Amino acid sequence: MVDTKDFLNLEPSLSNPFGKFSDIDDFCAQNVVHIDKKLFIDLHQLSIGPLLSEGPYSLVYEGLYKSMPVAIKIIQPDRSANVSPERKEKFQREVLLLSKVKHDNIVKFIGASMEPAMMLVTELMRGGTLQKYLWSIRPHCPDLKLSLSFALGISRAMEYLHAIGIIHRDLKPSNLLLTEDKTKVKLADFGLAREEADSEMTTEAGAYRWMAPEMFSIDPIKIGVKKYYNHKVDVYSFSMVLWELLTNSTPFKGRSNIMVAYATATKLRPSMDNIPREIEPLLSSCWAEDPADRPEFEQISDFIANILRNVCTSETTSPNLFEMENPTSKE
Ligand code: ADP
Repeated sequence: MVDTKDFLNLEPSLSNPFGKFSDIDDFCAQNVVHIDKKLFIDLHQLSIGPLLSEGPYSLVYEGLYKSMPVAIKIIQPDRSANVSPERKEKFQREVLLLSKVKHDNIVKFIGASMEPAMMLVTELMRGGTLQKYLWSIRPHCPDLKLSLSFALGISRAMEYLHAIGIIHRDLKPSNLLLTEDKTKVKLADFGLAREEADSEMTTEAGAYRWMAPEMFSIDPIKIGVKKYYNHKVDVYSFSMVLWELLTNSTPFKGRSNIMVAYATATKLRPSMDNIPREIEPLLSSCWAEDPADRPEFEQISDFIANILRNVCTSETTSPNLFEMENPTSKE
């Protein structure tokens, strides 16, 4: 572990050891999204350890904050060696939204810093991403009980977010993190999340394989038609994650982004082969073309909890054990 100021190669001064801003209010006033001073971490108490992940937008390190293991996401400058206004805004939104949420299946916010580097500190999830976990056990799938328990955790996190008016817009296995024992999942990466009341949304967000059909701005079928979307885009993404948990395959594997867009727009969906019969109605309602036909996460959680109860009370997962309501029938 190294001290943050050594890591960032700072010239400390007694009055202002970390930032170039002498007054933090000065600094807060310069931001697009208002971030409360209470959310800032005490950089003296942060030390930085090994690199966990390197991406185009951020570097994520393991570290310690007040002796507690944490993950530290540091936003990368772009080619001009500056953090672009878009990146800065994305980061500020992530800090703002993550600091507002508190749920057992959402990664816990610890604090943030804007200067001398944009850093987001969260609880450390030692189990890594759900994506890496799935890759590590291929060609096998997690057992049905574990898949359903992950799916229930994700659904409960989404249910909570939607209840407080937040759309995640980037739900996929690489944004889901596991506890060290790999039994519990937590939602992370709020960089694309938005408050639903903010505005009517039309811009593309997220990765094509998990993106709802109404989100594609390049719609190969209806060129130039801009469609508005709402929180039901997360339900579509959830269907892809659930399908991956049950098959341990990648949706639209081997297709390029444009082919995925075309497939999604022409109502093509991943195969139901190998999907337990009782879960088929859940999948087909969650990836329905019309967002209004997709269930709310509250219904999804009930549906999965019901199946999970049946799986837990029986040694066998024989299909005739399940008698489930179609999740769309409640609407
Ligand atoms: P980006 O917005 O740059 O994609 P993410 O928030 O998705 O950044 O984080 C990138 C990667 O860093 C994740 O896929 C994961 O491997 C790792 N990571 C992020 N947060 C944590 C955490 N709290 N605990 C452990 N690893 C994390």
